[in-house]
Amino acid sequence: MKLIDSALKPEFTSMFDVEHIRADFPILKLQVEGKPLVYLDNAASSQMPQQVIDRLVRYQTSEHANINRGVHYLSETATAEYESARRRLQHFINAREDREVVFTSGTTDSINLVMHGYGRKYIRAGDEIILTTLEHHSNIVPWQMLAEEKGAKIRVVPISDAGELLVDEYEKLFNARTKFVGVLHVSNALGTINPVKEMIAFAHARGVPVLVDGAQAAPHMAVDVQDLDCDFYAFSGHKLCGPTGIGVLYGKAELLERMQPFKGGGDMILSVTFEKTTYNSIPHKFEAGTPPIAAAIGLGAAVDYLSAIGLDTISAYELKLLNYATEQISNLPGVRVIGTAARKTAVLSFVMEGVHPHDIGTLLNHEGVAVRTGHHCVQPVMLRLRVPATARASFAFYNTMAEVDTLISGIRTVQKVFT
Ligand code: PLP
Repeated sequence: MKLIDSALKPEFTSMFDVEHIRADFPILKLQVEGKPLVYLDNAASSQMPQQVIDRLVRYQTSEHANINRGVHYLSETATAEYESARRRLQHFINAREDREVVFTSGTTDSINLVMHGYGRKYIRAGDEIILTTLEHHSNIVPWQMLAEEKGAKIRVVPISDAGELLVDEYEKLFNARTKFVGVLHVSNALGTINPVKEMIAFAHARGVPVLVDGAQAAPHMAVDVQDLDCDFYAFSGHKLCGPTGIGVLYGKAELLERMQPFKGGGDMILSVTFEKTTYNSIPHKFEAGTPPIAAAIGLGAAVDYLSAIGLDTISAYELKLLNYATEQISNLPGVRVIGTAARKTAVLSFVMEGVHPHDIGTLLNHEGVAVRTGHHCVQPVMLRLRVPATARASFAFYNTMAEVDTLISGIRTVQKVFT
């Protein structure tokens, strides 16, 4: 099968030509408050290239019908394209088989699926689940709900002041009651890249399965689930230049097969009587009802687009943006970077003396600069680092050094307003 559709290939002349890339993103031409948009909120949601928009239009104008079981042309076409999108996602994360890719509505949904499908079946009273201080609320709350229901206990890996996991402490948390580990690959608030491969190997040596929240890793680095050897890997389409309402749960086939379904309904069954229902095979067992067909196909196009640029190229370019931004911001008095791990993706969280992050965000918006402010759904991180909130600039491969300069001059303007 030809996985990368040549029509989806971004055109760039040199190894990485950011202006050619930017031309693919119609939204980047917007003016905000009379200024060119500088979009630095990519960790919350990234923008969509024309190639993905075109793919969605093609689907809606010539391929749409409900999938599975239809014998007519459109249903067969939509089914084939939906399954082709699954194979594109399989290759994107190097899963062994396409049935290990479950389409969900996003990272949160993927984690809830594992909690209901695996956790409720296998976690018992007195068992322990290891999470880390860095987790997004979506990888905390489902496990708290499970712990409450089952009488299980959550143990938490602490972090350093730089925002790095204390791996020695992680190892000390293991005991005979440890039954599950949930860890995020990259921190959305701080950008820290966690040593998940080593953490997974340590857990596996003790027979403990590991779920990795890859929401902030999949858009920024090559992910190889076989190399990581993770049991589950969750991520969202809308952070990957794809549509909202779609995400992926990767799970090892033998684990997915042992799990109970999360949602019941059409498509996830083989047969139903009032006496007994038999479930479909994986991944369909976990895809009850009509799935987001268009969004899945759009996500397939999005990962083709990213793969055509190359995730290694994206990582290298984004690191340059981060290093430049970090250097520039550290020249500003009264501004402190929150999250200074040795290995980071392009996330720059910061606080300013005497200015609330919401005011930073509002004033930067007047300059056309979009950053996120608040606790970023990681209140335990804010508590640990003793900040109520941060302003966060998060970069993508379509951002430029000139946009970093606009951010820095915007911060100077904020300083002038508050002095
Ligand atoms: N995990 C991390 C690390 C995130 O950054 C996010 C979203 O910001 C999520 C999970 C939740 O993703 P979604 O809202 O797409 O389900």
